[in-house]
This record gives sequence, structure tokens and C-alpha cells, in this order.
Amino acid sequence: MLRFYSFTVVVAAWLFLPVAYAQKASGKKPVNPPVAVAGVEQISRRGVEAHLLFLAGDALAGREAGKPGGRVAAEYIKSVLWGLGVAPFGGSFFQRFEAYSPRRERHVEFSVHPDSVALYRQESAYRRLNLQNVLGYIEGQRKDEYVVIGAHYDHVGVDELLVGDQIYNGADDNASGVAVALQVAKAVAAAGEKPLRSIIFAFWDGEEVNYLGSEYFVADFAQPSSIKAYVNLDMVGRQGVLPVLHPRFGLPQGWDKPDTAVSRDVYLLRTEELASFGEQAAGEAALLNLNIALKPSLLVHKSEGSDNLAFSLRAIPVLWFFTGIHPEYHTPADEAAKVNLDKLTDVAKATFLSLWKLAN
Ligand SMILES: [Zn+2]
Repeated sequence: MLRFYSFTVVVAAWLFLPVAYAQKASGKKPVNPPVAVAGVEQISRRGVEAHLLFLAGDALAGREAGKPGGRVAAEYIKSVLWGLGVAPFGGSFFQRFEAYSPRRERHVEFSVHPDSVALYRQESAYRRLNLQNVLGYIEGQRKDEYVVIGAHYDHVGVDELLVGDQIYNGADDNASGVAVALQVAKAVAAAGEKPLRSIIFAFWDGEEVNYLGSEYFVADFAQPSSIKAYVNLDMVGRQGVLPVLHPRFGLPQGWDKPDTAVSRDVYLLRTEELASFGEQAAGEAALLNLNIALKPSLLVHKSEGSDNLAFSLRAIPVLWFFTGIHPEYHTPADEAAKVNLDKLTDVAKATFLSLWKLAN
């Protein structure tokens, strides 16, 4: 009964939103405008561009996990959250942790799993990464129910052996997702009303190594069942193909065919619990005149590919905004100039609306 009641309230509030927004846009005085409209209006093209240009700039040297460029990115994210009035989660913006590998060679898998770490540390030599997630917090009316929105800020660094451009800027992967998450944080902070559930803004380190930051966060979380949904942002500013995400992450045939066409498509991957939510969000984006087309697609709980995995493996519902794999994926050509800023701005607006709905 309680479940039915809360569902009704959420749907009713959601259906009202486009009407209020249209009234506002047309200059009519909106009747009791939902607080969500105020949030959407906080999101700007200039805002997403500013974050993207800084994070994907050459000065950050590809934001490699454990390297100075990655740490500068973390400091930047912390400063932005602080400026927005977003609180640190758990007393500090930085969630520091270590990851270990039993091997001495480079480019080997690291782990944060306590059993693996204990085993690796018995070796005569092992590798260690010092990493940090950045965590912001906006308290809701309920302090024991959370919605987490996350984007990884690390990328793959620099390759000195490359002739030509050696810096992997990671503009789409994943400065784009961080830029969106920071604008969404601004929108929630400015919405002027406490959401029902508390919201954690998470910026993951070590995703490119082995989804380390998100795995550490969920494994360390006191009560993972209190996380009611996870919204993932990873590669949201281009146009590409949907890779194979299950049973193993893989690129589909023909994925590297250059696709320069500007497309409105955004894959909206979601686990089965949020199936109807995905269809609804797609319709609402159209009603709000956002120039994107959300394409709902099913994400199974074992799907790999991004920080979705740590959450969905623990049966937490996941929603993942994603614009697909393109030929510049994991190359030094993934530069800010190739990101579609208008699309990125509208993805931020759609993400805010989905997050607000999940939090209420
Ligand atoms: Zn990524």
C-alpha cells in the first residue's frame, strides 16, 4: 500500500513538470511551479564547457589514477562542490583508499578487495596505488535513504612512446560525465527544496584501472541496501555505438567506422527495476524540448563497462546515461573540441530531472 502511494505521488509530480515548464517558457505565470524547473534553469552550456575545458586540458596530463594530474582534477572537483555549497560526505570531500597488485609489471590489474589485498601484501614485491574518490552530499528529508550520482574523473594519462600527441585528454571519457555531474550538483543545490532522499555526488578514481573507486565506495558503505538507485555518467558528449556490456565488455563489429554525423541519440541504460522509468524519462525529455532522444536499453546486473558494475552486482537499481563508443575512444584524439556542447548541456538537464525524480 505504501509503495503504491509513493509511486502515485512521484508520477503525478513528474507529469506536472513539463506543463509548468511550458507555462514559464511562454511567459504565463506558472501555477505552483515544481522546484525542478528552478534546477533545470541553473544548467548552462557555458557551465558544462568550463568544466570540460579544464579537466580535458593538456595541463592535467590525462588525469591518470595516482598521478599528479589526477590529483589536480580531484582538487578542482572539491573546489567546485565547495563553491556550490555542497557538503562533504562523511566529514571529508576525499575518500582516500589504496589498491594493490601482486605484479611488478605495469598495466596489471589492481584490486581493493580485502582478501586480495591481504594476499598481495604477503608477496616480496607488489604494486600500490594511492587513490581518492571525491564525495559531495546534499541531505534529504530522509537521512537513511540515498541516491548516488557518479562519474569517474580519472583517465589513462600519457604515453611517452607515442610519436605525436602523447596526452590522452579523455574529454568524452570522462570529463564530459564529470562536467554534467557538477552542473547537476549546482541544479540540486539551487532547487531551493530538500529532496526526499539524500543525494551523494560521487567522482570516482581508478575506473580506468579496474572500476576501483566505485568498488571501494560500495564495499565500504555501511548499508548498501540504503542506496535506492545509482545514476552513472560515463561518456555523454559524443555520438557512437553501444558496445557489448554482457557477458564481457566488448566492441561490436564495425564500431570503428567513423561516424561524424551529429546525432541526438543518448542511450539510457537501466536495470530492470527502472524499466518503466526509462520510457517515461524519454518522453519527458521530448516534452521539455530538449534536443536529445533518449533511447532506453536494458542493462543486466552483471553488465561491465563502467562504475555501474559495483552497484548493480549488489542489486542496486542503475540508470546510465551514455552516448556510445567512437573512433577516438581511448586515443589522444579524445579532445574537448570534439565534444558536442549543446548535446552535453541537454544531457545535464535530462540527468538532473531523472535524479530529482529518483530522489523524490
Ligand atoms: Zn569511462
